Amino acid sequence: MSSAASVERVHVRAPGKINVFLGVGGRHDDGYHALATVFQAVSLYEDVIARAADDFSVTVRGAVDADAVPLDDRNLAMRAAKLLAAAADYHGGVALEIRKSVPVAGGMGGGSADAAAALVACDALWGTGFSPARLHELAARLGADVPFALHGGTAVGTGRGDQLNPALARGRFDWVLVTSDEGLSTPVVYEQLDLLREEQGALADDPPLSLDVPIPVLQALRSGDAVQLAASLHNDLQAAAVHRRPDLEETIRRGIRAGALHGIVSGSGPTVALLCGDPESAQAVQTALQQAGREALHVHGPVPGARILV
Ligand code: ATP
Repeated sequence: MSSAASVERVHVRAPGKINVFLGVGGRHDDGYHALATVFQAVSLYEDVIARAADDFSVTVRGAVDADAVPLDDRNLAMRAAKLLAAAADYHGGVALEIRKSVPVAGGMGGGSADAAAALVACDALWGTGFSPARLHELAARLGADVPFALHGGTAVGTGRGDQLNPALARGRFDWVLVTSDEGLSTPVVYEQLDLLREEQGALADDPPLSLDVPIPVLQALRSGDAVQLAASLHNDLQAAAVHRRPDLEETIRRGIRAGALHGIVSGSGPTVALLCGDPESAQAVQTALQQAGREALHVHGPVPGARILV
């Protein structure tokens, strides 16, 4: 494919995610844990702007610790652009500008959203014309959470979390996100989980290598019932995240005292997601946490995946 880009600039927006359910099983030989999860895309977005260029470059701004994001080939958006170029045999480059709103290393899949957005943006910029299935396949090669950031909505992820099936979700769920200035490393949280399981002797009774999402979680989503969903929120990584950051439990308790139905650590944390019954109670919970000096955002889900803005 020649390097003549078909347009000069493409702007794509991709959402961050919450895991409303996250079951972690045993570790496969390749080091990955077996997962059964339900993702929900929420209205906290990454914006990626792709401009025609001869070489590959990336700039990042917006988030509190945008400085912590690598600007070389470790950057997931950069890797996405280069993977697409190789797959399409495209010989030009791209200048990527990332405007971050999702906290870095916050357990909300911000880097994965950047990668999904970069795939969609470069596909349009270069006129690659790949099918959604082909983009999905490239996304899965970049990371377990990237296919979901492409699709958005609410979905069940199994395998490494990358085998996706849409889940029926009615209505809108209101969440208050409590963010932290400092992130938690996902691999470190998984290691902590393995340690905790060893200490508890759980390895004598090996965690399963294939897991399912419990039916009540799916029923609650299908009926759009926040009270029912609150009762089935669960995260197997929560104990490990709390072990590293004991304050997260107090944040959840504080949110519930302020009127949230329930709270959970999002993915590997440290972002806490508090589920609220309606927009008004979410507003009240957000205000109470802000008055307690916490960074709290009111978002809703589900929202669509990576989309070109016109
Ligand atoms: P996970 O998807 O594993 O749950 P997370 O949501 O907790 O991750 P991210 O913000 O996606 O965290 O990034 C985790 C790490 O990945 C960062 O600390 C950073 O070093 C690296 N990284 C690579 N590319 C990006 C990117 N575009 N944005 C943010 N971090 C990135």
